[in-house]
Amino acid sequence: MVDKMTAQQRHKCMSRIRAKNTRPEMIVRRYLWSQGYRYRLHRKDLPGKPDIVIGRLKVAVFINGCFWHGHSCQKHFPETNAEFWREKIYRNRDRDYKNHSELEGRGWLVIVMWECELSRKDRREAALERLMETLRLLEMPAVKPYKSPAIEEPYAAAAEGTDYPTYGDSDDTY
Ligand SMILES: [Zn+2]
Repeated sequence: MVDKMTAQQRHKCMSRIRAKNTRPEMIVRRYLWSQGYRYRLHRKDLPGKPDIVIGRLKVAVFINGCFWHGHSCQKHFPETNAEFWREKIYRNRDRDYKNHSELEGRGWLVIVMWECELSRKDRREAALERLMETLRLLEMPAVKPYKSPAIEEPYAAAAEGTDYPTYGDSDDTY
């Protein structure tokens, strides 16, 4: 009976690994919405079912629970069944890594946000501001590599002793 209880509890815990609509997730969703971003939730057609997907920018946001996803803020595994948890969490991390790589391979930008930075009020603002900065960068038009042929080419021609028309020689109207 005791074993059964434990198994049930464990199952309940397990099912929360990719829990939907958690409080940290709601914080990010509300914030993005208030900033004018529109998104889809838990898209099943993408690896790892990202919590928030901004399709227009090809951004997938995962909002991770620190314990389940083995965030660096977690210093110790639980003492009871330490080996079990260690393996479980390592597996989760492997899966996260695989999902993120797969997404990146398909041209998505993966952003991971952590429960600990969203739950604490003093860190939340900075975390959301970082997210917004990343999105703003993606919104900027692509910058073309700098070239100035109009300046460099005449000089190169002159160095080779080639005549190069100046404005005065030209019949063109400027
Ligand atoms: Zn954390």
